[in-house]
Amino acid sequence: MRYHRIALLPGDGIGQDVIAEGVQTLNLLASLAGDFRLETQSFDWSCEYYLQHGRMMPPEALNTLREFDAIYFGAVGFPTVPDHVSLHGMLLPIRQEFDLYVNLRPIRLLPGLEGPLRGRTTADVNFVCVRENTEGEYARSGGRIQVGTPQEVATQTAIFTRQGTERIIRYAFELARREGRHKVTSATKSNALQYSMVFWDEVYSAVAAEYPDITADKWHVDALAARFVTHPQTLDVVVSSNLFGDILTDLGGALQGSLGLPPSGNIHPVAETRRGPSLFEPVHGSAPDIAGKGIANPIGGIWSGQIMLEYLGEREAATQLMRAIEAVTAAREVLTPDLGGRATTVEVGKAIRTALRKLY
Ligand code: ATP
Ligand code: MG
Repeated sequence: MRYHRIALLPGDGIGQDVIAEGVQTLNLLASLAGDFRLETQSFDWSCEYYLQHGRMMPPEALNTLREFDAIYFGAVGFPTVPDHVSLHGMLLPIRQEFDLYVNLRPIRLLPGLEGPLRGRTTADVNFVCVRENTEGEYARSGGRIQVGTPQEVATQTAIFTRQGTERIIRYAFELARREGRHKVTSATKSNALQYSMVFWDEVYSAVAAEYPDITADKWHVDALAARFVTHPQTLDVVVSSNLFGDILTDLGGALQGSLGLPPSGNIHPVAETRRGPSLFEPVHGSAPDIAGKGIANPIGGIWSGQIMLEYLGEREAATQLMRAIEAVTAAREVLTPDLGGRATTVEVGKAIRTALRKLY
């Protein structure tokens, strides 16, 4: 029996609803598979916690989390708590402390669902975005001079280290190999950014040369954004810097048809250099407008649990869970309102679990 220790951080609003469905589904899957177990422990750190205690999580939180194999995260956010408080009080410290340098975002149009691209199906829209998560344009380097004067100048320096650039690109190629994907597309802008992106291109070429079995492809990010819309079927794995990835993954998420669908992982993939657990969360936020109504789509949350299983090495179970999710969307009988249905969060969770039982 393999045991995986999972820290549950459901957070606020619909984060709680979708993680509840995710945990039930993962536990059922573990008992059906019979060869692994999840040992879960839940923490109430959130904006609600912040309003009571003046901080998003207690001082010892990071040390507590370090003992776990993975973090399963819902969402944090509250109308009266500014975004920077929830971000800097929780997600960023976790990402930094555990060096979660990969932001992984599968972009797939699920069977039975329609995205905004007319006539496109799951056969056309099925790729993975790999975004650098620790440096680049978000390195917080820069400043402002002559503030408030007509001579004011603001600079923001993007930082690209060889180690940081190489490891994210290598991860993209390793992922392609592992998943039987054939192409890695790099998002660049070396025609305009003569230091950072020229360097990125050099590192990309060097790493790509080590993977002759994978086609290496690159586009300037503006042209690539257009290709997300016009030629999604030509994309397989997309690797990008922090800022380019931020923009591209939101575009990719939109192609999936509802913000309730896309999943994500914040991952440190290399066992030798790992400092703590990786974190898995749906892309959506706490959605205060539908919180407490029981109609949040749980698929993004459950799918994030599926990526967590892959990361934990439970690849067979992960494959089955994806099949169960796809069986539910393909049938189009039990869907939440964001997908045009009338089902509740719990009903969709149950439908996925029913589909799972049929697979075992
Ligand atoms: P936060 O501050 O936590 O990011 P937000 O106000 O930005 O919250 P999001 O969660 O990003 O809200 O959601 C944006 C919109 O998408 C909202 O109208 C929300 O209802 C909808 N939405 C988000 N997630 C889901 C979901 N799982 N199911 C259905 N609708 C969703
Ligand atoms: Mg938001």
